[in-house]
Amino acid sequence: MRFDIVTIFPGFFESVFAHGIVSRALKNGLVTVEPHDLRDYAHDRHRTVDDRPFGGGEGMVLKPEPLAEALQALGIKSTDQRTETRDQDARVILLSAQGRLFTQQVARELAAVERVVLVCGRYEGVDERINELYCDMELSIGDYVLSGGELAAAVVVDTTMRLIPGVLGNEASGQYESFGAPDAEIEAEIAAEIDADGKGVPRSQHGAGGLLDYPQYTRPAEFDGLRAPQVLMNGDHAQIRRWRREQQLRKTLKNRPELLECAALTAEDMLILDAIRGHGKS
Ligand code: SAH
Repeated sequence: MRFDIVTIFPGFFESVFAHGIVSRALKNGLVTVEPHDLRDYAHDRHRTVDDRPFGGGEGMVLKPEPLAEALQALGIKSTDQRTETRDQDARVILLSAQGRLFTQQVARELAAVERVVLVCGRYEGVDERINELYCDMELSIGDYVLSGGELAAAVVVDTTMRLIPGVLGNEASGQYESFGAPDAEIEAEIAAEIDADGKGVPRSQHGAGGLLDYPQYTRPAEFDGLRAPQVLMNGDHAQIRRWRREQQLRKTLKNRPELLECAALTAEDMLILDAIRGHGKS
């Protein structure tokens, strides 16, 4: 998979992608990330990429001509040049506080395409005609305003690339964490595994199904007077699964109760939730 990033700060990405899973995926060629300097497409002496907004108001706006030229150089055609719809395997995304919210679901959609082009705004934003002519969608990484699209682009690249097969060490782990795949899929897979080896070795992470992940513990068993939960030590996989599921429900109810409305909950989950609510421990 390939990401192209149009930005006035191409150097921003050097350190961002120099660590961990992302840098490994780049090194072994599973993913390519190419930042492009917008100023290379500004032709005046000062390499100007911004101008004052029509209608007045604070700040500056990224002008359309350099952005259009940069995108054309990447082989992206504007809507009026396109005789047919854009290549199904490419998406052009404008990072914008006014965009559709970037979620794990959006990341899954993007991970399925071959090429993603990310346009980073700066100042007060980007001339809207670039959005209209070149972009397939506007994405916001959250309800707050950044000073530029670069951090948002890095978030989109990081989140999306770890869903590409082979990027994570453990192929499955992306499904089993917060905001993971629907429970039905996960349950079916686990059931198949349990049948296969007759023991049902639990995964490090279990069916998120739209819930937040459960808390993790590692050695030492006692830290600063706090013991790691005993249930995790006894090797009873069914019990561990039940405990983890309850923790997911607790954490989701406490931190993100709105997720419960869309989560795939079993009758047992509902009972657990009632019990948690009943005890006022949410
Ligand atoms: N005036 C704009 C904010 C401009 S911030 C507004 O109120 O909507 C400058 C640039 O930062 C934007 O063009 C966009 O590319 C980026 N940006 C800011 N907040 C963002 C967010 N939540 N998600 C994605 N990109 C964002």
